[in-house]
Amino acid sequence: MIYTFKLRKLYLLLLAMLILSIPFIFHYKNNFISVNSNNDKNYIKWVDFNVTYPALEKTLNLDINSKQKYNWIEILSCLAVKYGGDFKKYKEKDVDDLIKKIDDGQNISTLTNQKYYSYYFEAYSAVLNEFIGQYKIKTETGDWKEYYGLKVFSPIAKGYAYYDFDDFGTERSYGYKRKHLGHDLMALTGTPVIAVESGIVEELGWNKYGGWRIGIRSFDKKRYYYYAHLRKNYPYVKTLKKGNKVTAGDVIGYVGRTGYSSNENVNNIEQSHLHLGLQLIFDESQKDGTNQIWINLWNITQLLEKYRSAVERIADSKEFKRSIDFEDIPNFVQDE
Ligand SMILES: [Zn+2]
Repeated sequence: MIYTFKLRKLYLLLLAMLILSIPFIFHYKNNFISVNSNNDKNYIKWVDFNVTYPALEKTLNLDINSKQKYNWIEILSCLAVKYGGDFKKYKEKDVDDLIKKIDDGQNISTLTNQKYYSYYFEAYSAVLNEFIGQYKIKTETGDWKEYYGLKVFSPIAKGYAYYDFDDFGTERSYGYKRKHLGHDLMALTGTPVIAVESGIVEELGWNKYGGWRIGIRSFDKKRYYYYAHLRKNYPYVKTLKKGNKVTAGDVIGYVGRTGYSSNENVNNIEQSHLHLGLQLIFDESQKDGTNQIWINLWNITQLLEKYRSAVERIADSKEFKRSIDFEDIPNFVQDE
């Protein structure tokens, strides 16, 4: 009898301990889950894209001329590790040295610190992934011919003058004090604006900072191109709608000086220009909100200066269209 009583007491004690520990078990479990889900959200939070124009041009030509035996994104990522992400240290000889190593049969990704290399490779891929690849051009006989090369375009149509300088991060004061998160290309009102890269129209309409503006998302969803201050009364190609697919080199709108007004269709920008922004999105939560990543386009616009889309006026209209039929073959393929 005493024996069973003791056993019962022990049993009750164990039960009480179990009940008391339930909140701790749950607490631990929840913590464990939230730690886990944080790990799942291990995406890139910041990119400073300062690869210089000479470095871009040299590696671009190497990639295209070698048909990707030398991958420019791999070379640039390898250099970035060497320079600690600062391309002010860029020397052409560093590229030549890397090329020699590749020619000797060495794998570029193993030549450097793996952890830093994979960061730069992912960051630079997010910027440059669709710059080089396959595309088709329609010949005079009506046949399509396929090429491998640069398949993005300058945002300003061929034959139209513009000037620009490195203005990323300079102060702006309309609305609130903030940094200039884009690149301005000064051009006459009415100058045709060209889609730099193919993608889907995600935004179209008035925004109190950008005035009439178009936002285009790349097919891989990693890049958001923002074209702003478009022309009063006739800002963009009339048929353009949200959700439309545009092809790199298409005319999408016209330079103007709208913006800096809560009212629509107001010219409050002093000098007519195109504001071009490029936002990188590694996780959808970065698209809007306080942790946006916008990159400096100064070096990229210098690279694209020679790659302009030829345009012509459509008869009996105010519209322009591209002169050369072009088909983009995206590197990114949606898996469905
Ligand atoms: Zn601007």
